[in-house]
Amino acid sequence: MDVDIVCVGFGPATAGFLATLSKQLVNPDGTPAVESTAVPGLPPQVLCYERADDISFGVSGVVTKARALRVTFPDLDQAQIPMAAPVAEEKVLYLLDPVGASRRSATLRAADAMIRAGRWMLPFEHAALNLPWTPSFLHKYDGMILSLGQFMQWVGAQVQSTGTVQVWPGIPVSQALIEDNKVVGVRLLDQGVDKKGDASDGFTPGMDIHAALTVVGDGPVGAIGRQLDARFGLPEGHHVRDWAVGMKFVVDLPEDTTLKPGTVLHTFGYPEPEIFGFLYVHPGNVASLGIFVPSWFDSPARTAYRYLQHWMLHPYLWRYLKGGKLRSWGAKTLGESGRRGEPHLTGDGYARIGEGSGTTNVLTGSGVDEAWASGTQLAEAVLELLKAKKPFTKQNLDEAYVKRRRASWLDRESVIAEKSRDGFQRGVATGMISMALAGLTRGKFTFGREPVQPWKRIPSLEEYYRSQITPWDLAKLREKCQAENTSLHGALMDQAGWPAIPFDGQLLVSHQDALLMGGKVQAPHGYADHVIFQQPELCGKCGARICIEACSGQAITPGENGVPAFDREKCVHCGACLWNCSQANPENPERMNIAFRAGIGGLHSAEN
Ligand SMILES: Cc1cc2nc3c(=O)[nH]c(=O)nc-3n(C[C@H](O)[C@H](O)[C@H](O)COP(=O)(O)OP(=O)(O)OC[C@H]3O[C@@H](n4cnc5c(N)ncnc54)[C@H](O)[C@@H]3O)c2cc1C
Ligand code: SF4
Ligand code: SF4
Repeated sequence: MDVDIVCVGFGPATAGFLATLSKQLVNPDGTPAVESTAVPGLPPQVLCYERADDISFGVSGVVTKARALRVTFPDLDQAQIPMAAPVAEEKVLYLLDPVGASRRSATLRAADAMIRAGRWMLPFEHAALNLPWTPSFLHKYDGMILSLGQFMQWVGAQVQSTGTVQVWPGIPVSQALIEDNKVVGVRLLDQGVDKKGDASDGFTPGMDIHAALTVVGDGPVGAIGRQLDARFGLPEGHHVRDWAVGMKFVVDLPEDTTLKPGTVLHTFGYPEPEIFGFLYVHPGNVASLGIFVPSWFDSPARTAYRYLQHWMLHPYLWRYLKGGKLRSWGAKTLGESGRRGEPHLTGDGYARIGEGSGTTNVLTGSGVDEAWASGTQLAEAVLELLKAKKPFTKQNLDEAYVKRRRASWLDRESVIAEKSRDGFQRGVATGMISMALAGLTRGKFTFGREPVQPWKRIPSLEEYYRSQITPWDLAKLREKCQAENTSLHGALMDQAGWPAIPFDGQLLVSHQDALLMGGKVQAPHGYADHVIFQQPELCGKCGARICIEACSGQAITPGENGVPAFDREKCVHCGACLWNCSQANPENPERMNIAFRAGIGGLHSAEN
């Protein structure tokens, strides 16, 4: 099929692109404002393919300044967007360890002791210090809390009601079509295949969509962005090495909650010092809450689910959450390389937008507005080129799109943020100081070091747990879990002193129950596995099977001959396995032994 523009993924970046473009393709009298080359006489034919079962079936309750969103929708009425609330109150909390199991450095223990000793003079309650002052760059003044799921459905309806663009959910793009170094469109995923991708009942090969411009907005772990990176490389000095998995619950708060809509809580310090948390209150007694487990948390057994429950049980938060009910949960990778991870933004026939193009600001913790802004900048550029009847060559796209991006707040702020997180490579305390310094000096001063590849940072279990579990006890645990064919992380956390989770069947439920609750995780039949262990022999001799321990959906489990097994039906498509692997890919040390391909299924819910 031939079209003018094909888009990969419908996240905030592509939504910004289509919302801007769709309004300007047709004149008020219905005639084309610019003409299609694929179908002369009509306005340009614009298609967008989204891999999730429906628009916005992903995860992320967000707080955003919404600067770029307000430019696109100047008359934005928040009341029209379900679950949206203006930001009313923001707090940053340092959570102390109330159970004594957190793996804290001597510096942090000393700081905790000082805070406890001086708690009468400090804004300290329920084992948490409410930071009396936080720098302005961390605030979201005049911003809004959104359910990204609900917001994206709202935008999807706005965009499609123009009649000028089509968004097709449930259709993953499997690869970019490249001819002579020019991207000429995309190929959709094959259907009717077995786990390995071989044709089986009802085989339908993925259709080729030829387009003058391919817009790649497939997020931080998108297969198409990664294909382009592999083919065209990254600009000199750039690398994609920093990630976090964000795991989130959407919760019905108790009816008598004292939390007001618009409340924003950010936490750090617990359950492990490296884990950050957030709680945003929507209207109607609903909260989005969760944690981020970063790639620089050097634990080989970093399961987000159990840590999320310990975080919720922290006395500061639990007093608000007790009696609440789990509505929905999910997980998603956040690309934290920012500007350092910026790929070539354009090439002949393609342009990159959104988090996969390095937009996320790692200093301010803001991604939606930035992704959206990059989409709108590309839309303005595309309209300019269409009107001038100029082809989508790299040179033209650089002049129209990259120039706009470089001249905008998006680029200026990404320069300030570029090195702000380097301190975390040397520890949490150094990381926090370095971030504050970067923010206060507008990026002029930072310290720390450039991130290394995640696989280089993963110690053995013995090393990581040496202060908490003896090698002898660890060997026994390993043997037991191997005999029972279960993953180790639960047993390790028990042994390290973490209390059992008091399941209540409402809010504190087992990982399996959360996964299957209300049919929220689904995988249609007839598609190939999208998680591949590329060199099984490397798995066979892998000491820290972090892919199993870190999997957000318990979809990766111990398998035969040391090679993990993958269960597509439990995969939430968080993409965390992509960077949670302890072995380098022998052909490319910037990548690891897991390939995360385009796939369908995952979360079947827009509640997030
Ligand atoms: C838990 C969590 C909390 C967050 N909180 C905040 C916050 O408070 N504030 C904030 O500003 N930002 C926040 N973020 C970051 C924010 O969500 C991202 O920066 C933003 O979503 C990036 O938008 P995007 O369009 O670039 O990518 P994405 O949102 O990742 O969208 C990419 C889309 O492409 C689709 N796709 C991928 N591959 C294919 C394919 N092969 N074929 C078809 N479709 C494909 C995906 O399904 C997805 O819908 C948070 C992120 C997480 C994970
Ligand atoms: S995928 Fe990576 S972490 Fe998992 S077993 Fe194989 S080599 Fe080890
Ligand atoms: S297998 Fe699926 S759920 Fe597990 S880490 Fe990978 S993408 Fe996430």
